[in-house]
Amino acid sequence: MDTQDRIKVAVQKSGRLTENSLALLRTCGLSYSRGTDQLICFGENMPVDLLLVRDDDIPSLLAEGVCDLGIVGLNVMLEKAVDGPGLVRPREVASLGFGQCRLSLAAPRDFEYRNAADLCGRRIATSYPRVLGAWLAEKGVSADVVTLSGAVEIAPRLGRADVICDLVSTGSTLAANDLVEAEVVMESRAVLMAGDPPETGARADWMDRLISRIEGVVRVRESKYIMLHAPRSQLDEIRRLLPGSEAPTVIPLEGRDDKVAVHAVCRENVFWETLEGLKAVGASSVLVLPVEKMLA
Ligand code: ATP
Ligand code: ZN
Repeated sequence: MDTQDRIKVAVQKSGRLTENSLALLRTCGLSYSRGTDQLICFGENMPVDLLLVRDDDIPSLLAEGVCDLGIVGLNVMLEKAVDGPGLVRPREVASLGFGQCRLSLAAPRDFEYRNAADLCGRRIATSYPRVLGAWLAEKGVSADVVTLSGAVEIAPRLGRADVICDLVSTGSTLAANDLVEAEVVMESRAVLMAGDPPETGARADWMDRLISRIEGVVRVRESKYIMLHAPRSQLDEIRRLLPGSEAPTVIPLEGRDDKVAVHAVCRENVFWETLEGLKAVGASSVLVLPVEKMLA
């Protein structure tokens, strides 16, 4: 295959998504040589090359057909989307299970935020004027959006804005700047985006293979094997609480007629709340194990 026939995947060069993106592709079986400051990494065992770029450039690289796939935050995808004649409209192929964050409004401690109407006529600093603008329009609020490319969180202290709209994951940056999260504008996560699919032939086959491997890796990562003991009388309730599971395996316990062991594969993340809910209806000895590989 010559270079035009190779699949190009755009990945953030250096930032919060880089490590997870590269690890995901490696888990899919791709090995590549990475130089220190390269723009392109050539896949050694598949006709797949990586373009290492700023995340902000990924939406237009996809739209212009420069790359076939891209791993990027949904927030950036919506903010930087380009549309026009001759441009591809990228589609979301998979949600990747990392890069979770939210684009939120945050206000100084003494700003008493109750709802969107409190933003009327106020200055809001953000790097997401488009996403914020759409949200304000939907709420029927007219505010003054101040676009900043970075250091948004210090804008209120500098007197450049009354409130901010920025990405939050733990909230520690907000707290450090004496800001209080007021409202979530959008929930975001890393997504796999694809441009126009190649028609047919080896390229199309490799695209399909790569996409289905990525989907498989994500599915397994989100899957957990749960084992627990349960009162027989609570089986229905326990089944209802197990997130995204198919019919669980129910096994008798030696010498106990009132209790059974329940084993289930859950295809959704299992959170502490779920475990607490299971315990509340009588489950005991609850074990949650990772799944390594799964053939559906
Ligand atoms: P680049 O140099 O590539 O433009 P950047 O500074 O714009 O990098 P990062 O801070 O590395 O970007 O964030 C990349 C993406 O990670 C964000 O667009 C968002 O989707 C996701 N993300 C997850 N959590 C957070 C967070 N707490 N703050 C910012 N971004 C986050
Ligand atoms: Zn960026």
